[in-house]
Amino acid sequence: MSQLGWRHHTLIQTLLTRGPLEEKEFYSVFAGVSGKSPEVHKKIFDDVLFKINKELAYVQFELRGCRNQYDGKVYYGVVNTIADEQSKLGTKYSVPQIVFYRAILDAIMQDATAQGCISSIDALNIRLENQAGQGSSGSQSHVPYVFKSFTLAQKETTLNELVLDQWLCSTTSSDIGLGVRSFIDLRGWFRSNDFSTCDVCNEAGVKAEICKSENCNVRIHAYCLQKKFSGKAARLCPSCGKAWHVSQTDQEDEGGANATQTQATSDGLPRAKRLRRCKTEAVEADQNRNHVPSGSPISRRLRSCKAEAVADAAEAEPAPDLRRHPVAPRTRRSRNVGAV
Ligand SMILES: [Zn+2]
Ligand SMILES: [Zn+2]
Repeated sequence: MSQLGWRHHTLIQTLLTRGPLEEKEFYSVFAGVSGKSPEVHKKIFDDVLFKINKELAYVQFELRGCRNQYDGKVYYGVVNTIADEQSKLGTKYSVPQIVFYRAILDAIMQDATAQGCISSIDALNIRLENQAGQGSSGSQSHVPYVFKSFTLAQKETTLNELVLDQWLCSTTSSDIGLGVRSFIDLRGWFRSNDFSTCDVCNEAGVKAEICKSENCNVRIHAYCLQKKFSGKAARLCPSCGKAWHVSQTDQEDEGGANATQTQATSDGLPRAKRLRRCKTEAVEADQNRNHVPSGSPISRRLRSCKAEAVADAAEAEPAPDLRRHPVAPRTRRSRNVGAV
């Protein structure tokens, strides 16, 4: 770290203590310590990050920029490039909580419609005893008691903590998506697991739009679509050549619906508050069981919460190209992240 001055250390320390920062915020921290705006002095900004990453690589860390796929905004964070999920989350979260996170992550990644989320009711219904056997030779009889006894209330607390720590996020009042920390941290894992990628930027298409033509599964992020089709009269699928459907983002733009974390929902409650209320109702109604049936009135009520808008209109700027920054050796991880 001897090559780095106090300015570099300030940038690293800020990201480590405050967690991932939105590009605008990180730029202003950078301008504060260097006296140069990254927007004007792009090369200086790139050089500083290059220098930081050269040093961080020795200790298996990396300063990374990544897009939040729900709002299209770029965030910067420092990640440990070698640790598995247990090491990343382990200082704060217990093993059952990490298994719970991994199960939610798997459920979101397996969504063939690329909505990038699952309902919080589905998340609360995840059974850890089913997860525990995955990727190991353990049978149900060897499932640790802590997995079997992980209650609905514990799941709800864990969900809230994971959202607060930005490992997960609330995409709507009742849906859970990946947090920006997951996007930044799991980039290597996405790539090494061959998840369907966006046809434009080649990053994992967690939250994306899919071509509606039969036998065509091209998926493109909403913000990449905007960039790709910007100023073009014909909006054609790059693979099958058929007209691209009117996207949800277009409809939202026309209707002016532009959801944010703090925006009030249709009943006037802030989203976070409404999510808490939905989940509290689920817990109260089913406090004698550790399962919420999908056809229950609570489940229907939660489904009705899904009507709100999904994501901010995305920016049309390209993702930051950090390829010239050295990347620490990527660890080979199995599909079962953090398997325990
Ligand atoms: Zn893309
Ligand atoms: Zn197509």
